[in-house]
Formats: sequence, C-alpha cells, structure tokens
Amino acid sequence: TELVKVENLNIHFKKNKKETMAAVRDVNFHILAGETLAVVGESGCGKSVTALSIMKLISPNDGFVEGQIRLGDTDLNKLTEKQMRDVRGNEISMIFQEPMTSLNPVHKIGDQISEVLKIHHATPKKRLKQESIDMLKKVGIPRADKIVDEYPHQLSGGMRQRVMIAMAMACRPRLLIADEPTTALDVTIQAQILDLMNDLKETMNTSILMITHDLGVVAEVADRVVVMYYGQIVEEADVMTLFKSPKHPYTVGLLNSIPNIHAEEDERLEPINGNVPNVGAVKQGCPFRFRCNFAMAKCGEENPPIFKHGEQGVRCWLYEEGGAIG
Ligand code: SF4
Ligand code: MG
Repeated sequence: TELVKVENLNIHFKKNKKETMAAVRDVNFHILAGETLAVVGESGCGKSVTALSIMKLISPNDGFVEGQIRLGDTDLNKLTEKQMRDVRGNEISMIFQEPMTSLNPVHKIGDQISEVLKIHHATPKKRLKQESIDMLKKVGIPRADKIVDEYPHQLSGGMRQRVMIAMAMACRPRLLIADEPTTALDVTIQAQILDLMNDLKETMNTSILMITHDLGVVAEVADRVVVMYYGQIVEEADVMTLFKSPKHPYTVGLLNSIPNIHAEEDERLEPINGNVPNVGAVKQGCPFRFRCNFAMAKCGEENPPIFKHGEQGVRCWLYEEGGAIG
C-alpha cells in the first residue's frame, strides 16, 4: 500500500516582494509502506526542500508550496499547524546530517529520549529510564545504561547519529525522512548506520525517504530511486534497474563518477562538468543541456516530459517514442 503520495508538487521561493522562483517543479512520487525511496542529486537540486515540504516546514515567509501531499488517508495540506505538529514526530520523523544541531547540549541523552517517550507513548515516569536504555540498545549503542546519563558532547559523531535515530524511532513513525544522515561520518560508521536503518525498516515496517547525493548510500538502502536535477525528477526506477541500465544522461554521468575500486590506478573518473544552474536561471529547454553530451536543437527549445519505459521514467528527448533511443 502507498503510504506517501506526492502529486504535482511545486515549491516557489520568494526572490523579492514581487518575484518568486520555482525551486521544485512538477514532482510526483509515492512511497510504499516498509519501502525506502532514495531521492538523489547534487546539492541545489531541490531534494532537501522536497523533504521539508512533506513536513510542512517551509515557512510562508520564504515561499509557498503547491500540490498534494498525502500520508495514508490524510491530505497534509488540509491540516492546521497544530495538527501538523502532531504528525511531525508522531507519524513522520526526520534526521539530519549533523545530529549535534538537533540534540540539546544541556540535557542528558536519556532525558531527551524520555521526553519523546513521554509525549508519544505516555510512558509512565518510573519506566522512562529503562525504556530509554532499551531504545539505545536497539540502535546498537554499547554500555547503554551508562550512555543514558551522558551529554551529547561526550559521544562520537556516529554515536550521536544513533541517538538521533533512537529518538526518531521512539515515536514509531510511519515515515522516517533522512537527509544525508551519514555524510558527516566515516565509512565504517556510515555502513553501520545504514544497516541499522535497514533493520529498523524491516522490524518496524517504517517507510524511509532517504535524501542523498551519494550513490553508495542509494545502493545500500534504496528499493526505488528518484533522481532530481534542477528541481525536477529526471529519472525514476527501482534500484536494480537504475544501476544496471540508467537512461538519463545525468544519471549515467553520476554513475560514471563513482570511484570504481576495481579500476586501474590511472583510470580516471569522469565527473560531470559544471554545476546545477541556480534556481530560476534556466528560462526554457532541458536544464541539463549545458552539461549534456547528447544535447540536440530540440533540447534548447522545450523541456522534455517524463517518458515511461515500463516502470522506469526518464525526462529526456532521447527516450521519447521514436527518439534516438526510445
Ligand atoms: Fe541531454 Fe537533451 Fe536529454 Fe536534456 S533532453 S538530457 S539535453 S539529450
Ligand atoms: Mg541538502
């Protein structure tokens, strides 16, 4: 069953009093219960704001969001801020890259988890400490009975991220949004955290929306993948298909830029030249054409729609019916 359904999502940011710029355009996706959807792209592609819009965390002072966002049977757009606060942390939790910014430095780890347990499960006072310890054990924290009385700065980055996940899972959310949760961590710890998220998904049937620029992370956790570029989805596919037969020239470029551990030492990486254009900079045509080796005249005139090839979708003129490849 579909847990999350996002339709025709458009996010406009205010440039000045009169003008707005579209940071996200015509985004459609769904997430099944117990599934991990990865949203991948370079910084500035709109993946983080997409996540924030699901949480309804884009301030009206900054911009506005159009489109439908459903969580189960609930149309999130119809909820008041008060109802939405209930959804956040109860049904949707979020973890970020830098856990230090979301943990309160002056409170003990155990007290911070207890707070979540108190609010969401009305856990009786005398059981709070033991349940906090149990949560810490669940996320693989050693000596949990000691850590529960420590402060965030006494823990390593990897341990802090585990605590964040413990807090995020303590309310047993239906959806966990993770925005670059392992980017600041070293590779070994990163692998452990990703394993942990996979375990929690399996045991608690949580859906995960994983925001990342790292295709290694995608390979580790995703069931399906959405690739974003300049505020749009440019490719969508299940994870196997994406790695085996990527179609969009941008996806192909991203995959080619992964360091290959089997490559000869002098074999060079092929990073994609250039950057994502600034929001609002491209007035017409395919926004990837400035970096694309296949750009044709048509690409400068018209932005392609998404062409479906089975379950795979690709926003590129090469793949239109009768196009160069489609
Ligand atoms: Fe390249 Fe044209 Fe496809 Fe855009 S539409 S990715 S410019 S070939
Ligand atoms: Mg980001």
